[in-house]
Amino acid sequence: MDMSAPIPVSVAKQFLSRPQANLIGKERAPAISGRTIKVLDPATGELLMTTPDSGQEDIHRAVMAARAAFDSGPWTRMTPYERARLMLKLADLIEKHQGELAEIETLDTGKPIMASRYVDVPLTLNQFHFFAGLATKVRGNTMTLSCPYTPGQQFHSYTLREPVGVAGLITPFNFPMLLGAMKIAPALAAGCTIVLKPDERTPGSSLRMAELALEAGIPEGVFNVVTGGPDAGAALAAHDAVDKIAFTGSTEAGRSILRAAAGNLKKVSLELGGNSPNIVLDDADVAAAVQGAGFAAYVNMGECCVAGARLFVQDKVYDQVVEGLIGYANGLKIGAGIDESTQMGPLITPQHLDKVCGYIESGRQAGAKIVAGGERVQRPGYFVQPTVVTNTRDDMKIVTDEVFGPVATVSRFSDVDQVIRQANNTMYGLAAGVWTRDLSKAHRMASALQAGTVWINCYNIFDTALPFGGYKQSGWGRESCPEAIDLYTQVKAVCVAL
Ligand code: NAD
Repeated sequence: MDMSAPIPVSVAKQFLSRPQANLIGKERAPAISGRTIKVLDPATGELLMTTPDSGQEDIHRAVMAARAAFDSGPWTRMTPYERARLMLKLADLIEKHQGELAEIETLDTGKPIMASRYVDVPLTLNQFHFFAGLATKVRGNTMTLSCPYTPGQQFHSYTLREPVGVAGLITPFNFPMLLGAMKIAPALAAGCTIVLKPDERTPGSSLRMAELALEAGIPEGVFNVVTGGPDAGAALAAHDAVDKIAFTGSTEAGRSILRAAAGNLKKVSLELGGNSPNIVLDDADVAAAVQGAGFAAYVNMGECCVAGARLFVQDKVYDQVVEGLIGYANGLKIGAGIDESTQMGPLITPQHLDKVCGYIESGRQAGAKIVAGGERVQRPGYFVQPTVVTNTRDDMKIVTDEVFGPVATVSRFSDVDQVIRQANNTMYGLAAGVWTRDLSKAHRMASALQAGTVWINCYNIFDTALPFGGYKQSGWGRESCPEAIDLYTQVKAVCVAL
């Protein structure tokens, strides 16, 4: 795909400046209450778009549209191949509008445009291509029974793998398009209908993708989008006509979603927070490890669930790695994401900026040393410098908590078994990194680290073929792999006496 041609910002801006509405069935609907949310550009603090501040009634309407489309619409009567072709049409439209989508994503989230163009959009497309391919491969099994109390009786027994029904999808602000696609694509491939509730701070790409889905010919009611805050999410999680909730966001919100979902015991999958260790051993390729440590900590402004926020470095290479990381952090070009030369954009909101700066200050006060960055950037928008923190203790809040900003804490270690214990000493278990030339150590550590993904001599490598999800309190279920279809299907056993 040709990603090189710059697309005028005005295409995305044109979309964002339109009066935005929920997409329910094929209707564009404001919130029934008339309330709206002002979405701000994090690079400037200026108004970017206005979206419905939806409540329970709006969620109800969207769920009923999805319910009708599931129970009696053409979607569930289509063959898997027909559904796959419509998903591929949607993928083609995403590709056709990739420049616009990348810019919407950057203006909304603040992330560098080069990341939106070359990472978020291609990975989003990959999700649709991958799961469109799987739509025709959802299958059951046959089995021979040995029922002990029916001697001589023969049975024909098999399983059917069926769509779970209406899926409510709730996404966060940091990768709205990609994390949306990681749910939308397997849900559609499985034959579900969906209500997507994107984060209130970054709804642009979700609204645009839903429009493209209608344009692709995906029947009305299959792909609904409702914008709003946590209350709208809670209403979706609690709704009795929703069969499944797929959530990505904080562990705290994940817990309330579980409670809300208990009413009708809907199926739940959760992709939650992280505080990932990244471990550099003495025998690592130091130059590669430094680049990897910087990329792990600062990509997407550190607003990354898998951010390698806790860097552990073995004695012999400690000074070299710290020095390298300081150079990496100080060398990042900070600016508005829409500027092609920007390597690090703003944080999402002033409140989040305060929170991240609060963590840095708490580290300073607890005796940690800020050896790079540590300050707000004095310009409009919500910018903080990429920060390196040394002299930490494992019980400092800046180490124990998910900071969700461009902050790397660095700890020195000598003993590999000890660092594994330290790395695992967290309620999270999303990802981990290991840098070593020793294959045996690498595989032993991959097995010992309690994380859903372990990267060896690399970091932040994503592919739809790789399962993605968390150990411990980082989540339930795996997305982005063939097994993701299981999250949106259920198995029926059929037994026929012959
Ligand atoms: P958040 O939990 O505040 O919000 C995420 C979404 O949930 C938003 O759409 C929000 O409106 C909604 N929401 C919030 N509270 C809710 C509630 N009680 N009921 C229903 N919906 C609710 O998270 P955030 O601040 O947007 O994102 C940051 C968090 O997300 C971090 O903890 C990060 O690690 C996590 N995250 C995890 C993954 C992953 O794949 N594991 C990926 C990205 C982000």
